[in-house]
Amino acid sequence: MALLADGLSRLFIDGKLTAGGAGAYATINPATEEVLGEAANADTADMDRAIGAARRAFDETDWSTNTELRVRGIRQLRDAMGEHLEELRELTIADVGAPRMLTAGAQLEGPIADLSFAADTAESYEWTQDLGLAKPLGIPTKRSVVREAVGVVGAVTPWNFPHQINLAKLGPALAAGNTVVLKPAPDTPWVAAVLGELIAEKTDIPAGVVNIVTSTDHSLGAMLSKDPRVDMVSFTGSTATGRSVMADAAATIKRVFLELGGKSAFLVLDDADLAAACSVAGFSVCLHAGQGCAITTRLVVPRARYDEAVAIAAGTMGSIKPGDPSKPGTVCGPVISARQRDRVQSYLDLAIEEGGRFACGGGRPADQPKGFFIEPTVIAGLGNDARVAREEIFGPVLTVIPHDGDDDAVRIANDSPYGLSGTVFGTDPERAAGVAARLRAGTVNVNGGVWYSADVPFGGYKQSGNGREMGIAGFEEYLETKAIATAAN
Ligand code: NAD
Repeated sequence: MALLADGLSRLFIDGKLTAGGAGAYATINPATEEVLGEAANADTADMDRAIGAARRAFDETDWSTNTELRVRGIRQLRDAMGEHLEELRELTIADVGAPRMLTAGAQLEGPIADLSFAADTAESYEWTQDLGLAKPLGIPTKRSVVREAVGVVGAVTPWNFPHQINLAKLGPALAAGNTVVLKPAPDTPWVAAVLGELIAEKTDIPAGVVNIVTSTDHSLGAMLSKDPRVDMVSFTGSTATGRSVMADAAATIKRVFLELGGKSAFLVLDDADLAAACSVAGFSVCLHAGQGCAITTRLVVPRARYDEAVAIAAGTMGSIKPGDPSKPGTVCGPVISARQRDRVQSYLDLAIEEGGRFACGGGRPADQPKGFFIEPTVIAGLGNDARVAREEIFGPVLTVIPHDGDDDAVRIANDSPYGLSGTVFGTDPERAAGVAARLRAGTVNVNGGVWYSADVPFGGYKQSGNGREMGIAGFEEYLETKAIATAAN
């Protein structure tokens, strides 16, 4: 079958692919600014139906208790995506502007493979734990603890790594027995819509268990936070929107799981290989044009070697030319939209206003008149109090900050409203590990270690969110806990 001729421009509600109540809207290739085609534009009535369908599927079918069906359905989805891998790859590059090389990992193949972890976890999970006999208040009692699904999950996702984020919510939420309404970012509708067609045609997942609602209307996301039929909101996006989600969910005391922004630090200790560390830092901030929440965008280096560090990072980043993401060698593609490009540019302008300077980059590449490209940029000459060092830019922009020793480096890293991730480079492993232990962040890379993996929990401290995605912790986010006490006499 040729994938998705039709399903890309359809909502998926109650098992059916349907048109959007507000018609359709154009989805744009961020590398070319060309219209790729149409996505369904849902209205509030569509979202209302989707929530109703998810509620019914949870309350009236055996989905939440039929683990065998859930495991089969998730594996069928994984296999269906695998069968259409090459079509999905081209679609992802076009819809997201994702560099082709990243589709071998977190932009496509990684999240598909990670569905296995969700299915395997459900299959082997200890759903009931026997706490044995005890005599609380003198009454002989057999006690057990049962884990069961939370209910209807509203999943709201951003555009930067859409497969990764959509599937890191869908996989564990479904494995745990929930039903889901997925509201993806308006900018990357096809990557989500494709799941509806595959689920409808290739899996035994019952109608209403998964609903996918694409729309340009952000308020449909807020409907999920407010609606009493939704038991939990699983949100990934900016900290500002996360705050609204939390406030909207307060009226119904909904469970809220938030993966938010970051401004993570890359600490280079004074015993580190400075050239290697600063090159790695520069390279990683260029990946997918810096549109990763966990990318380390503050490079914190020994003061005595500040100029050298800036030059090395600028050497690396200046040599990475933003370009066509469909080419195999491209590291840095476009950012998602003109709006995002202008937002990044406004931060670059701010860096100069704040007294900083560019060691490379600083604007739009002259050789890319079309597409939402930004030059990889190193900002030097500012401290950690500058706004460009405190606020999330979400572009290929690195701010280099001096430190006066390990304690100061840790202080700078932790002096942020965020706490998503961090990196430490140092030659003495014990010293580097000691610094890593002091970082207030959800994931830490020491000397190039990779934490991204299906079995590793990912999430933030402070205003980077609450809860964890992936790993057993990520699965258990979607579970309630029920204690059952049975009189034993
Ligand atoms: P965003 O917050 O603008 O939008 C995210 C999603 O929320 C979209 O689907 C949007 O339609 C929806 N939305 C908007 N207003 C809403 C509301 N009031 N209630 C409910 N939903 C609403 O974020 P974005 O610009 O799409 O993505 C970039 C941001 O996402 C960055 O800040 C980045 O750090 C963050 N992010 C975080 C992680 C993580 O795991 N921590 C991962 C990826 C991206």
